[in-house]
Amino acid sequence: HVSSPKEVESKRMDLPIVMMEQEIMEAIYENISVIICGETGCGKTTQVPQFLYEAGFGSKNQSSRSGIIGVTQPRHVAVLATARRVAFELGVGLGKEVGFQVRHDKKIGDSCSIKFMTDGILLRELQNDFLLKRYSTIILDEAHERSLNTDILIGMLSRIIVERQKIHEQQKEYEVSTGKMISPDKKIFPLRLILMSATLGVEEFVSGGKIFSNPPPVVQVPTRQYPVTLHFSKRTDVVDYIGQAYKKILSIHKRLPPGGILVFVTGQREVEYLCRKLRKASLELTKRKSNENNVVTNEDTCKEFDMKELDEAFKMENNQQTDRFSSYDEDEDHCDTSEDDKSFGSDEESDLEEVVDTVKDSVTQDNEFGNVLEGNHNFDALKAAFEALSGKTTLDCKSDSDSTQQSTKDGSPGALSVLPLYAMLPASAQLHVFEEIKEGERLVVVATNVAETSLTIPGIKYVVDTGREKVKNYNSSNGMETYEVQWISKASAAQQAGRAGRTGPGHCYRLYFSAVFNNIFADFSTAEILKTPVDGVVLLMKSMGIKEITKFPFPTPPEAKALCEAEMCLKSLEALDYDGNLTPLGKAMSLYPMSPRHSRMLITVIQILKHGNGSARKNFILGYALAAAAALSLSNPFVMQFEGDQNENVISEHDKFKKRKLREKSKTSLAKFSNPTSDALTVAYALQCFELSENRVEFCDENSLHLKTMEEMSKLRKQLLHLELLWTYGKMDDVERTWMVYSNKHPLMLNEEELLGHAICAGWADRVAKRVRGVSGLSEEDRKVHAARYQAHKVKETVFLHRWSSVSRTAPEFLVYSELVERKRPYMHGATRVKPEWLARYSGYLCSFS
Ligand code: ADP
Ligand code: MG
Repeated sequence: HVSSPKEVESKRMDLPIVMMEQEIMEAIYENISVIICGETGCGKTTQVPQFLYEAGFGSKNQSSRSGIIGVTQPRHVAVLATARRVAFELGVGLGKEVGFQVRHDKKIGDSCSIKFMTDGILLRELQNDFLLKRYSTIILDEAHERSLNTDILIGMLSRIIVERQKIHEQQKEYEVSTGKMISPDKKIFPLRLILMSATLGVEEFVSGGKIFSNPPPVVQVPTRQYPVTLHFSKRTDVVDYIGQAYKKILSIHKRLPPGGILVFVTGQREVEYLCRKLRKASLELTKRKSNENNVVTNEDTCKEFDMKELDEAFKMENNQQTDRFSSYDEDEDHCDTSEDDKSFGSDEESDLEEVVDTVKDSVTQDNEFGNVLEGNHNFDALKAAFEALSGKTTLDCKSDSDSTQQSTKDGSPGALSVLPLYAMLPASAQLHVFEEIKEGERLVVVATNVAETSLTIPGIKYVVDTGREKVKNYNSSNGMETYEVQWISKASAAQQAGRAGRTGPGHCYRLYFSAVFNNIFADFSTAEILKTPVDGVVLLMKSMGIKEITKFPFPTPPEAKALCEAEMCLKSLEALDYDGNLTPLGKAMSLYPMSPRHSRMLITVIQILKHGNGSARKNFILGYALAAAAALSLSNPFVMQFEGDQNENVISEHDKFKKRKLREKSKTSLAKFSNPTSDALTVAYALQCFELSENRVEFCDENSLHLKTMEEMSKLRKQLLHLELLWTYGKMDDVERTWMVYSNKHPLMLNEEELLGHAICAGWADRVAKRVRGVSGLSEEDRKVHAARYQAHKVKETVFLHRWSSVSRTAPEFLVYSELVERKRPYMHGATRVKPEWLARYSGYLCSFS
């Protein structure tokens, strides 16, 4: 029997999905694949694995239910948070019955019954065991997000469940016809597949019969969604949506009853910026309150928002990056333009707003809401509209009336408890959103779309929806990646609004005009497979013996052009031969849990070292290669995001000073680690010093390095070090020993640099660029750019080498780069100098420059 604390048990009982346990389990018994749909927060992720567990799935006893219950998530964050939660609810230790695995981290024991993992991890496991024999059930969670890996898993698992069933039947037949028993460890039982989703969109793409010959039944979890009133802005501020969000949050705080506020912005930098502004505002608010009332300052409240904390917040922000490449950029500082402290505290409510709709069918008609909403609405008209919409009227404002009284008791609002939430935030900080807040304070969570469906934050009553998200787009024709702020989809907007109605009636403020929503927003977000390069996926599929990629049951097939690009890339890496068949090198590459480029690079290093002698240096080079591979897998860790001056006029003197300091520090730090031949080797050296430092936090602070990126990189390096594949030619411990020896000058010898450069060249052979000399005919705009100009293979426009790149001082004739990122102009990231003779080995690339 499964025991769990009383309190947890009663909370569990309250979740909508608990009512559906029987129906869900029956569907699972009767079908090998099932779709479960239910609003975010209804309990899918935490409860369904427990239903299965309680029904004996995941047990060790030999039966059709033995085998692990595997749960995949597209997001790293959700894996950690839910594994922990489920272990807690079951009253077991994490790493015992409940385990997890993400790329750099795992806690999994022999007694594991429920395993949470990212979709990428399961995809890798498939390579070693195509039938997933260790598992009794696979749950693919958040299928509506359409992540690349989950999409591929849906396609693969649709075939695997059929295969497992077939083998099972054959075994049964064999036993009946021969009278012999198959030994228990050889027995194959059917695998069950459960797709979970927050929207019904999933049904649409799996019901066509193309993926599942027997379309899985859909179990829908009815949710107790309270009505959420939608407020559209009457105008759309195309630039300063952060400023609009700031104003809206303060006006909600000043006028509306208690209840948490959740605001969605596009990226980490916006999150941190808005948090900082809101903390400042809260500090002023509490100060003013104490002055007005002429009462003794409440020490607790004030302490929390004193200057030291602001300072910390500022430091923290500087130590974070928005996304992979922000540190390089001179632009994209849109949040710094929204300084608008003056509006704070004034009584005017600037935003014209229309209340358009109420989510779900129940209607909010009430006088109580009259003083809740910002005045001037025609409630009779609204009521009529609601009645026309839903045909019924319900009153469900009980929980709201007491809170209204509460807010008017004191008249002035209390402090804000402001919390950030984004994927790169350390796990422990992420979990703060689940903690109770102090009485009298209002929770404000500033989040990226992480909070849209994968995490449910308790106590949210108001949602502020900026309508934007940052999307990585990939242009397969020139290999360029861009980060763009785009409108979200209607499905996303609905999800965000839904977050306001979990614990009671709520409000969603959409900071854009309703016509924009109706006419411009797409219905659903685009599947990731249409937006990213698919070389890794193609290699993985080829290594699994899938010859004709175009016949694979993709939920959304990738564009023919993208598949073609991937094949070309794999051919240039020599993973595929001219006919598109997997080469032995390609097979070896597919076994590495990394992109084909990285595995090509490491394999090249190993091949070269195999022929040389001098084992101590060999170990050292191998260690360095692992670090360089780790460096090339993650974003640039050097923090210099305050580059660029265009917004200086709206930044305070204090900020300006800090900004200048930071820039100076960054420059010194870069110079200290700089390897003039390669950005990757520069970062590798910084990583070595980081790992040897006594205090890593201080080290990062002193050297303007992003702590979390460095930690991830260190973990990744160690993970690579433990790859058994590498150790046919060297000893792991020896490599580690040579790596962990401190050297206070750049430790690589010239020929070693070249060796590593050559290996990097092999992995990025098709991303080669040639220097463009001479500046005649440049526009004024171009002249201002202190960046070297290059012509890249297969790219029409001129590309640039940023002055922050460590190779920029010499601006070599030829280089390979890891990515092209389009900002104001296309920049090459992760550059490494290469020699023409290395390039000559990869036929064709040199002549393309003649
Ligand atoms: P769904 O997957 O349907 O979105 P979940 O199973 O994730 O729902 O969440 C169910 C409930 O459990 C929610 O109310 C959520 O707030 C709570 N919950 C989930 N994870 C945690 C956690 N790590 N700590 C505290 N509460 C949590
Ligand atoms: Mg979930």
